[in-house]
This record gives sequence, structure tokens and C-alpha cells, in this order.
Amino acid sequence: MYHEGQDRGPVVGPRELSARFPELGRELLAQADALFPVRVTRSWLARVRAADDPLGRQALPQPAELLPDAQDRPDPVGEGMRSPVPWVVQKHGDRALLLLTRRCHLYCRYCFRRAPHEAEDPTEPELERALAWIAASGVRELILSGGDPLAVSDRRLFAVLDRVRPAVPVVRIHTRAPITSPGRVGPALVEGLRARAPVWIIVHCNHPDELSADVDAALARMVDAGLPVLNQAVLLAGVNDDAATLAALFEALVARRVFPYYLHHPDHAPGNAAFRLAPERGLALYREVAARVSGLALPRYVIDPPDGRGKLDVAEWVAAGGQRPVPSAPASPLRS
Ligand code: SF4
Repeated sequence: MYHEGQDRGPVVGPRELSARFPELGRELLAQADALFPVRVTRSWLARVRAADDPLGRQALPQPAELLPDAQDRPDPVGEGMRSPVPWVVQKHGDRALLLLTRRCHLYCRYCFRRAPHEAEDPTEPELERALAWIAASGVRELILSGGDPLAVSDRRLFAVLDRVRPAVPVVRIHTRAPITSPGRVGPALVEGLRARAPVWIIVHCNHPDELSADVDAALARMVDAGLPVLNQAVLLAGVNDDAATLAALFEALVARRVFPYYLHHPDHAPGNAAFRLAPERGLALYREVAARVSGLALPRYVIDPPDGRGKLDVAEWVAAGGQRPVPSAPASPLRS
């Protein structure tokens, strides 16, 4: 865990950031940190050229973050109404999500789970209750999320995987660690995951400049071990909202044997208004990208509305005038 004054460690906090980026100002860093931690890994920092470049904007606060916006939603994707027990979210019958921790190596300023919470980690009884619920639920696929599930130790992670097997055959780990903290993907982690296959790794990379040599090595370690690796990106104003950047990102991922699984429309979390763009504009960009790249390099572009009913394609959302389309009635059975 980071504590102010430990700025020589792998994670940098407001004090060192204010020295490196004096234009941000100590006051902004302190106020933003009080709302949602300001922590940046040294690996990421080495890739930032300026506070307002695509990587700087993702990790460093901007003044707009402190201002409320009329479109802010306290629970932007409706997880609260889909939580059968604390730390579990279930939107679909065959799968569920376990929030293993709320801690991250780097805290993305646009994060849709950036609302304050009472605890960073489940207590042991809470984790036991969540695992018991999962085992009895009949779900076939468990998504470990957070926070970043790789912010917990290998021991804890493997213990959770071993507890849910064999009841849950497939596990996904949604993690940004290979991108923000590639050193986390060490031999013990990779071997432990390989031994517990099938474990799917869903990383989170938004811009081609995130793919530094240490990230490439971390991705290669996982792919070489036979772990399926997919990416989910978020479309972010001022970061990757142009077709050339998105096409370059998706093609760079494919070249690294990582499938670009999803492009998410940004959710309306308090504090992230500066990253939002209209779905219509996002769809126009997506169509431009689709005309440039191969099918292998084209993710699904989806939106996750606050009704808690899960993702849908942005094209459907836009066609329905900015709402979830009403499903058409099943055809009447033919009568003889
Ligand atoms: S790593 Fe994921 S959970 Fe953590 S701040 Fe970034 S987007 Fe949010």
C-alpha cells in the first residue's frame, strides 16, 4: 500500500507528482486525492510526456474533476441494484462478478467505480459469504474485478480460484495491472494462472502509447503461457477519440496476440465529465475505425446504461434515441 512519504516505491503519490507537474498545483492534487486516490505507477509515469497528453490525462487530475455535472450518476451502470450479497454483482443468470478489492495500482480518473466506499477490501466473513453465494448460484463464469484483482497477493488470488472450482468452470480476471504495473505479471503469477486454466485475462489499454516494452513483455509472458488475453478499452474524450488512434491501438493489440474485445462508451461517474462524448460521435468514430481495420482488430462498441440490465451495442442505443430498445414481441405461433 502507498503512504505519502514513500515516494521512492513503485507507486507515486501527490507529493512527487506536484514536483514533477507543478502546473497541476498542490491544491488540485490534494482535493482530487481526497475524492479518489491520486496514485501513478513509475512504469506509467515513464510513459507520460506531459500532464495533458493521453496518458497524463488518464492518471492525473484536471480541475474539471472537482466540479459536479448535471449528467453525473452515483451508480453509473446500476450495480447497486444487482448485488445479491456485498462484493458480488450479477446482471446475467450464467455469470457473476466478484469485486476482490477496490484497490488499484494506478487510479484512472475516468473510472466508473470511483464513488467513495466504506472499505477497500472485503472482510474475511464478507469474502466467505460472497464465495458461498457464488458456489450455490449455479453461475458458469466468474469475473474477478475490482478495483484491480491483481492488487491482491498471488496467495489470495489463487485461494479464491481454488475455492470456486469446480463449481464455476470458467474464470475471467479483469485487470489493468499488465498495462499499469507490468512487473506484477511475474513468473509465479503466470504459472499459477496457467495451472488453473481456463482463466481468461481481460486487460485494459486505451492508447497505443501505453504499450511500452515492459508492457509488451508482460503481455507476452501471459500469451506464451497459453493464457487467453483480451482487451477492453474505454472511448475517452481527449485521450483516444480519433479513428487513427483507435485503429492503431487495436492493430497494435492484435500484433501482440491480444484480441480487442470491447470498446466501452464512457459511463457518467461523478468527476469524469471531461472524458465523455456523445454516443452519436462515438458511433461515427467506430464506423470510421471499422472501415480501416480487419475483423480481428475490431472490438464491439458497447454502452452500459444505469438501469443495471447490462451492456448493449451503441448502434442499438443510438437507433433507439438514447435508450434501451424495447424487445420486439415473439412471433405468434402458427395455427393450423
Ligand atoms: S484500474 Fe480499473 S478499477 Fe482501477 S481505477 Fe482504473 S479503471 Fe478503475
